[in-house]
Amino acid sequence: MNAIAEQSARVRPAEALDHDVLIVGAGISGMYQLLLLRRLGMRVQVFEAGTGVGGTWYWNRYPGARFDSESWSYGFSFDQELLDEWDWTENFAPQPETERYLNHFADKFDLRRDIRFSSRVTAAHWDDDGRFWTLTLEDGSRHTARFLVSAVGPLSAPTYPRLPGLDDFEGEAYHTGLWPKHEVSFAGKRVAVIGTGASAVQAIPIIAETAEHLTVFQRRPNWCTPLHNARIDKDEMARIRARYPEIFQRCRETAACFIHTIDPRGTFEVTPEEREAFWEQRYAEPGFGIWQGNFRDVLIDRKANALLSDFVARKIRERVNDPEVAEKLIPKDHGFGTRRVPQETRYYEAYNRPNVELVSILETPIERITPTGLRTSERDYAFDMIVYATGFDAITGGLDRIDLRGRDGVKLKDRWRGNLSTFVGVMVDGFPNMFMQMGPHTALGNIPRSIEYGVEWVRDLLAHMQAHDLTLADARGEAVRDWTAFVAKKAEGLLSNEVDSWMTGVNMNVEGKQTRIVARYSGTAGEYRDWCNRVAAEGYREIAMG
Ligand code: NAP
Repeated sequence: MNAIAEQSARVRPAEALDHDVLIVGAGISGMYQLLLLRRLGMRVQVFEAGTGVGGTWYWNRYPGARFDSESWSYGFSFDQELLDEWDWTENFAPQPETERYLNHFADKFDLRRDIRFSSRVTAAHWDDDGRFWTLTLEDGSRHTARFLVSAVGPLSAPTYPRLPGLDDFEGEAYHTGLWPKHEVSFAGKRVAVIGTGASAVQAIPIIAETAEHLTVFQRRPNWCTPLHNARIDKDEMARIRARYPEIFQRCRETAACFIHTIDPRGTFEVTPEEREAFWEQRYAEPGFGIWQGNFRDVLIDRKANALLSDFVARKIRERVNDPEVAEKLIPKDHGFGTRRVPQETRYYEAYNRPNVELVSILETPIERITPTGLRTSERDYAFDMIVYATGFDAITGGLDRIDLRGRDGVKLKDRWRGNLSTFVGVMVDGFPNMFMQMGPHTALGNIPRSIEYGVEWVRDLLAHMQAHDLTLADARGEAVRDWTAFVAKKAEGLLSNEVDSWMTGVNMNVEGKQTRIVARYSGTAGEYRDWCNRVAAEGYREIAMG
């Protein structure tokens, strides 16, 4: 037997594998990937750790959780019937509505029969001779398939502060990203919120309404701007529905797939009066316009960014009664828009309530959690409830928590240590037949728009393999190097890449994630799609196939 014949004799036939494709996660990307691969005639199995579908919108059911992309720009766009039958009731839908929408999606396309719930994947190992993946679940069961799709999401591995006494607290404790399904009441309770990121900023005003007392422990403040949510009535929904083609076309054309478009003018090309009027208008409009639809230079030019930051700081000072509290809430270590901008509804006004207190832990660090509350360098605090709004081991965290091994038993986590590299954010050389949805180095932005593209790209790749009777796909090393260099180039000059945040791969609560890396792709979605479309049009020659 020659080498090729010998190799093909060792390849485990599809009939001897449990499935053709295993997908990890039943969020937006996992469910859409299941649907499209099923339509290719593949035998697909999804494993989901939760008891229901929805991913992010299943886990993040904390009070106040809602979209900050416009609802009608966020839903799936590929199915006219789905667009026709689903009515959004708010411009920025609250979590329960989104969870209902994703359940409707699962029912409509009969997805549940291929999703196994309460099934956390603990390991995924590649067999190079047999050309298949074996996944191990928490219950010890093993499942094999030719292909593996990771749909674990970029923000799915919640992290807690590394503080002594974390398990000692005798009251109620919740993480925003692991919020329980049962009703949580704040009424008459002394509540602590640790963290002031996008999740906390949504939860704080709601908790403040009923808690007896709320203490917010803030490390670094964020620049937050008003969401300006509004209800959508039947007539408005009809108008939106008529505009769907135009809305999705716009999302295809903008840099980050939001409906907001960068203003082509430079900050200093307009008069100070025009600039002020433009920023006032953006601040008064719904959604991300002030971040994603601002002058073209505000996220790259220090002077422009400083002026815009001054404008938003003025707004914070106007909205917060106590000048000392206002100063604490104004970021001093980074400019506006250089970290993810939380969108808020009366967040700053919450600090005007007599039952809300802000503690800067830059001034008085938390030393430990105690059985009755927590201790800072200054004093002990007593609480009935602690809410950890402390974020996620982002981008790679969901994958890092799986013992994921490619060729020669190399662990993905080790492969990426100090060298995060991918091919179009979807593949990693040495990890054949594994495809990541919303992995590192993919275009994120208005995420379902990016998901639809990414899922369809992987579907096309697998259809190509099916058509050519191929059982192996591994990104070529040079292709990985080219893409990773392109991602690094796109990160140059962006002020956001000079700031610690989950977007630059920093999480002080996770070992080995204390230094900034180029963790995400920051070019435009259009450039991303051009690259991927070219790869497909050229017959996937950047991927070694056999
Ligand atoms: P986050 O933005 O990472 O915020 C975590 C917060 O916890 C930060 O204020 C952080 O302070 C603080 N923190 C972390 N560890 C701490 C510690 N040991 N001690 C004290 N404070 C600590 O996380 P998130 O708010 O969950 O949001 C994550 C991302 O999810 C967002 O950026 C966004 O992309 C997404 N999200 C989206 C929506 C939406 O679409 N509507 C809503 C919520 C979240 P430092 O800043 O000092 O680290």
